[in-house]
Amino acid sequence: MALSPGTKQVINQWLKDRCPSLKCPACNGTSLDINEILVCAPKVKPEGALAGRGPTTEFLPLICAKCGFTMFFSIKVMGLTV
Ligand SMILES: [Zn+2]
Repeated sequence: MALSPGTKQVINQWLKDRCPSLKCPACNGTSLDINEILVCAPKVKPEGALAGRGPTTEFLPLICAKCGFTMFFSIKVMGLTV
């Protein structure tokens, strides 16, 4: 799912409000690009096997333009929906 310009604006504002000094933890770079595609992680059972086609948790990747380190933010916490 590609992000609309309006959604990217909401994300940028959320990051400014909640993480005003956000930097790459690997290289201290400050140019973090919002990935156009959200990613999701499947839920797993306690023993580690996949729980099937159950619910997933969706994340917004932020990629450091300098070193490529990628960090993930929960879109649920950000107040976004898919
Ligand atoms: Zn970096």
